[in-house]
This record gives sequence, C-alpha cells and structure tokens, in this order.
Amino acid sequence: MDSSTPADVVLVLNAGSSSLKFAMYASAGALAWRALARGQIEGIGTTPRMIVKAADGSLLTVPALALASSVVDGRAALAFLVEWLNEAFAGARIVGVGHRVVHGGPSHSSPVVVTPAILDELRKLEPLAPLHQPYNLGAIDAVAQRLPGVPQVACFDTSFHRGQPAVAELVPLPAELRKGGLQRYGFHGLSYEYIASVLPDIAPAIASGRVIIAHLGSGASLCALRDGRSVDSSLGFTALDGLCMGTRPGALDPGVVLYLFQGLGMSAQEVETVLYKRSGLLGISGISNDMRDLLASDAASARLAIDYFVYRAAREIGAMAAVLGGLDAIVFTAGIGEHSAEVRQRICEASAWLGLQLDRAANDAHATCISAPGSKVSAWMIPTNEELMIARHTGRLLGLVGANP
Ligand code: ADP
Repeated sequence: MDSSTPADVVLVLNAGSSSLKFAMYASAGALAWRALARGQIEGIGTTPRMIVKAADGSLLTVPALALASSVVDGRAALAFLVEWLNEAFAGARIVGVGHRVVHGGPSHSSPVVVTPAILDELRKLEPLAPLHQPYNLGAIDAVAQRLPGVPQVACFDTSFHRGQPAVAELVPLPAELRKGGLQRYGFHGLSYEYIASVLPDIAPAIASGRVIIAHLGSGASLCALRDGRSVDSSLGFTALDGLCMGTRPGALDPGVVLYLFQGLGMSAQEVETVLYKRSGLLGISGISNDMRDLLASDAASARLAIDYFVYRAAREIGAMAAVLGGLDAIVFTAGIGEHSAEVRQRICEASAWLGLQLDRAANDAHATCISAPGSKVSAWMIPTNEELMIARHTGRLLGLVGANP
C-alpha cells in the first residue's frame, strides 16, 4: 500500500454465472467515493482471467498461474480476489461489501443490510431470476465465509422501479397464476438511479420533468422518469422484454415461444438458450452480439440488426412518451448509449417527431448535451456508474460516509 491508500475501503461485487466484477472504493467525504481499483475475474470454472485497473486506468498485474489453478467456482473466485486485494492494497481494510443483487422482489424499494432472514427471503426469489440471483447470493455466502463479520449490503436492480402505478406493474394473467410474484419488476435500476441522482447537477432544467433514460448496453432498456422517479420500464417480469439486446430478442409475441415448444419441439432448456443467448443482435446478424462489430460490417444482416435495434428503441421511446404524457428529455447511457454517436443519431432522428432536434457536432464529439439549442426535447449522453451507486448505498447504510476522508 502506498501512502495514499486509505485504511478503510468498501468492496463492490457484481457476481454472475462465470464472472465476478468488482470495484474498491474509499470514502472521500460526505456522499463522495473515490474508486481505487476496478476489474473482473472472467471465465470462472473454465479458463479464468483477471483484469484489474487502478484509479488512473493503468493495468495492475495478477499472478495468472495461481488464478488459473485455483479459481474453479464463484467461491474460489471470491477467495482469490480477497487474497489479491490484501496483497495489492496491503493495509487496506474491507469495512463493508456492497452487492448487486438482481431481484429484490415486490417489496424492497431500497437496498438492505444483509441478515440471515433477508438472505432466506432473497433465496425464495431465485425462481424469478434463475440465471442471476443464485450467483448474486452465492457471492454473499462466500463473503460471509471469507470475511466473517464484515457487514454486507444488497442493492437491487428492481428497487428503483418500485412505486410504479399498478397498471405498469401488471402482468394480465389470471390472479391465481400471479400469486407467486408474477408482475413486471423492471431492471437496470442501479443505472437509472445513478443517472437520476446526477441529473439535478448536470441538467437541472429537466431533472424534475418527463425524462426517458435509454440504458443501451449488452442488456438494453428504457426507463420513464417523472420528477426523478421511475413510472415505467421496458423490462418487465424478466430481463427479456422491451428493446432488442445483444443476445436477447426484447418484446416478443408469446405465441412465438409456444411455437418453439409445440411447433419445433424444443425443450425448456433449448428455449431458454434461444431467448437469453442466441437472439437479439446476434440472432439477427448471425455475426456478433457486439454493436461495434455490426457497425464495422458491410453484411446486410448486420445492417438489419442495427436497423431493428434502432426501430425498436424508437418505437419504445414513443410508448414511454405516451406514458409520460409528453417528453422533456432523453438521456443515453451504457456501452452503446455512451460510445456510439451513430446509434444515438439514428434513434434521435427517428424520434424527431417528438420535437427532438440533434446537434450533430455535439453528438459526434460525445458531448453531455447533444441536442440543438432550442430543441423542444433535449438529448443527453451521461455515463452510468452502477458500482458507485452501490458504494454510496453501502456507505450510507453502514454509516461509513465520511469515515475516511
Ligand atoms: P454490459 O455492462 O451490459 O456488459 P455495456 O454497458 O458495457 O454492457 O455495453 C456493452 C456493449 O456496448 C458492447 O456489447 C458493445 O456492443 C457496445 N459498445 C461499446 N463501445 C462501443 C462503441 N464505441 N460503439 C458502439 N458500441 C459500443
């Protein structure tokens, strides 16, 4: 540890089926957090690799051999990470761990300190998010074992959307089928919450207005905000609804799913793989799930995939504008939303009927405000920061804010 490494740090974890993303933060005074390092262990259980960047963006070295031989599952990944952090930031003490947990169910409208009772409750939600929730909770178990006594906070992707009107949350199936939690939840909530938290500083004129946030990454969704609160989201019961995504189709006629089962005789496992891993940009193009590859390709199928991505985004923006009864601003964020001027331009042009006029030069320069002066609806590009949101929640709930300025 060099002399600038603070003693007390918060560890932020986002555990998936084969990856463990992490970030380490130190308190920098009231509500301010300074990232010391961020990175991920990928290929857990197959060919593990760990990439870590320091605060200045420089790559930190990781002993590859030890990583490859020891990281056989999520628990081992966490053990390796903690050991590595202890060495790389010797002297730093992890005083709290904040987790991204995909599902908080119908009741959690804010993050919670993890207790055995909370953990039991969250485990009951595993059937609602089988691809994410077990891994998120597995990381909580692993921390309890590896860092006993260190308090943990669960930050939910669904929380920000709680409080939406009843019609926005409804899945219109018979009541007896809805009893076990069948409703629309919405996801990407930590990203939306972060954007909503910075709007008053970045764009005070629209912060209390009618805003659509477009989170366009590997997963993609829209959130309709009124006065900083979520009133609707394009993701619903699962993270399959709404916009076209990297490998997920977005909104689909449910009859298509019946056809996969009854017409094509696919198994539940095969249908799940089609819906989560083989559709969307990848399925349409047959080339890649990565927007960069598609933008660089001359293939007609790549163009069609981008056309559909833009078409669906514009269509859902129209729907969200209807929900809001008009629109004051649209905010682009996440991988595609932050980095692709071309996709932003095309979505804005398709939304011109709402009164949105793009400033082409500002958009090409990735400026924060990308709409033309005088545009009735303004447009913005704001980088998201879900890890910082988790660090803020963890610090606040554990009373760590300002502990280590
Ligand atoms: P996630 O966190 O869900 O994996 P990101 O928000 O990092 O997703 O977004 C990842 C996606 O962003 C990539 O799959 C890629 O398609 C897209 N992306 C990143 N940089 C660019 C770029 N310069 N131009 C176009 N798309 C980009």
